[in-house]
Amino acid sequence: MSAKLTILGSSGAIPAYGRFPTAQYLNIQNTHVVIDCGEGVQMQLMKYQIPIHKIDHIFISHLHGDHYLGLMGLLFSMHLHRRVNDLHLHSQKGLDEIILLQLKYSRSTLHYNIIFHSFNASEIQLIHEDSVMTVHTIPLIHKLSCAGFLFREKTKPRKINKEKLKEGMLLQHIALLKTGADVYDHEGKLLYLNDEYTLEPTPSCSYAYCSDTAWNEKMIEQIHGVDLLYHEATFMEDEKDKARETLHSTTAEAATIAKASEARKLLIGHFSARYRELEPLLQEARDIFIPTELAIEGNTYDLSA
Ligand SMILES: [Zn+2]
Repeated sequence: MSAKLTILGSSGAIPAYGRFPTAQYLNIQNTHVVIDCGEGVQMQLMKYQIPIHKIDHIFISHLHGDHYLGLMGLLFSMHLHRRVNDLHLHSQKGLDEIILLQLKYSRSTLHYNIIFHSFNASEIQLIHEDSVMTVHTIPLIHKLSCAGFLFREKTKPRKINKEKLKEGMLLQHIALLKTGADVYDHEGKLLYLNDEYTLEPTPSCSYAYCSDTAWNEKMIEQIHGVDLLYHEATFMEDEKDKARETLHSTTAEAATIAKASEARKLLIGHFSARYRELEPLLQEARDIFIPTELAIEGNTYDLSA
């Protein structure tokens, strides 16, 4: 599994029925990322045996407490575990102030550096890129300025067709073939035609995390064809007025976005504390978009499945 998502918190606004506020953990080819940090996030990371020291990037969608109040505890625990690697924190302006103030009044100097990266949630921005993936913001509609995140795995190297491997083929030739290039000798004579020696790469995955948002059809084009779409579904359709008032979405709206964007799968979450049972929410979404699942704490979803 090259990309997998684990749900750490699925509750909206307040914890309810054992459900924690929003937090998720994404592992793409051993790049470890946390998305939103609701209260209790570090307890959840420990419970599901996720290596805290390997997390190098944290993305915070907006500054409502249920999406970041677990962050400070996690940052302090990283310090107490003697973390030394830089930690990249991607958020809107303001979170840097909130963190620095808490460090100031607790007279703490962390063993590691937090690198703050701020983004403008009102536009699509490339906010991170490394050798395995890119991350873009997804502008959302909410009471506070809020962004989702679109994670796209980069194209992987072509696979060598082992049946075609020849004696005398050098490692550098193989490396070149994996990039998709043909291999020539010093005189410019063709040695290996790429098509003959390689196979298509393993498909790359994509994940769209759409945190708190009202109905927002603008995102459809940007997230078109994603492997997995997480879309909040705070309310059922009969509470549509409440969704309008609080700038959240209903199950049917989440499913309609998934259908229109031709996502392969939909995960719904950020459930209101009014719902003890989640099965009715799932049914309502599945009436519109069959491949829908509930975001359940501790469950891991394979992006390539
Ligand atoms: Zn919110």
